[in-house]
Amino acid sequence: MSYLFSNYARKAFEIVSGQDCYVTDNQGKTYLDFTSGIGVMNVGYNQPQLNDALMKQAAEIWHTPNLYHNQLQEKVAQQLARDLDYLAFFCNSGAEANEAAIKLARKATGKSEIITFTNSFHGRTYGAMSATGQASIQKGFEPLVPDFIHVPYNDVEALKAVITEQTAAVMLELIQGEGGVTVADATWIKEVVQLCHENNMLLIVDEVQTGIGRTGSLFAFEQFGFEPDIFTLAKGLGNGFPIGAMLGKKELTHSFGPGSHGSTFGGNKLGMAVASEVLAMLTPDFLAQVMHKSQQLFTALQTIDSDYILDIRGLGFMVGIELQADISVATILEQLEVEGLLALRAGTNTLRLLPPLIMTEEELLVGVEKIKKVLAKNH
Ligand SMILES: *Cc1c(COP(=O)(O)O)cnc(C)c1O
Repeated sequence: MSYLFSNYARKAFEIVSGQDCYVTDNQGKTYLDFTSGIGVMNVGYNQPQLNDALMKQAAEIWHTPNLYHNQLQEKVAQQLARDLDYLAFFCNSGAEANEAAIKLARKATGKSEIITFTNSFHGRTYGAMSATGQASIQKGFEPLVPDFIHVPYNDVEALKAVITEQTAAVMLELIQGEGGVTVADATWIKEVVQLCHENNMLLIVDEVQTGIGRTGSLFAFEQFGFEPDIFTLAKGLGNGFPIGAMLGKKELTHSFGPGSHGSTFGGNKLGMAVASEVLAMLTPDFLAQVMHKSQQLFTALQTIDSDYILDIRGLGFMVGIELQADISVATILEQLEVEGLLALRAGTNTLRLLPPLIMTEEELLVGVEKIKKVLAKNH
């Protein structure tokens, strides 16, 4: 029997170790990992420079309250902002980063309404869950936080129709990850940016899954040619050490003065030491490699000749393969597991691939062969 709540549908096996792009279970079986632990282990498992950074910091001090200067937080914030005009707030998860973003947007504008999108995912806490555009995630937890308005994604008219004097912000993912790996239309994003500008609405981009190199640039918004007012990070930032971050334009700083918001563990020194090393690994050269390998991955996926595939989409190392309704993605995932490949689902019937960014072209192609084999077997 289990002593845990049954809120996760868990597999019977346990992953007990990992190295680079491989994980090993308690039976000694090794898998090629196309999940990165759900978009977390972006630079792979058991990386010596991350282990060293963590151990070194552990021997100095684990935790200091946010009552004192924190040079590691300053350093990571600078690594994230680079030459852009952003300030950072550190927390412990994606949902918390989004809570901070929602609070900052309301405080800075003095307005309450936030427009988000159907099939979006922003987390499980009350604000983030209320922002999430999926009824199945909210069911039974009402009353939700008021004034979140959900409209269809990639639809400019639907968005225009709900903008009011009370609209504080628009909040979106540039690729809806959990919702089915749906990529934002570049022209729609341009229109959203314009509408936000014209109507004095802040634009919040949830980069919890798309950030930290996942799409081939440090942040996905760089590929869409704009700078959000606020953006949020978590998953890949600590490469498995729990960290979240909210970044906002410098001019918003007056709305987040002393006492306005906080987190006991936010910006924890162990996490910051790791995050700084993660960011140091994501050099322009490294990211160019991700882009290059991504093209090869998409090219290889396109050679799979299967009636079951409806669509292949994504950016960088964030890929969705939408399957026909007559084959269940759960079945495919189980068969891939037998073949020694871990992958994920998204949306209703989409196979989601999130390999570690350090994966070689050869390893990517091994994974594609396994997917090809499993899809062929179901004919
Ligand atoms: C995973 C995810 C979250 C929630 O992050 P947690 O760390 O689980 O709270 C929020 N937004 C997006 C886009 C995500 O993918």
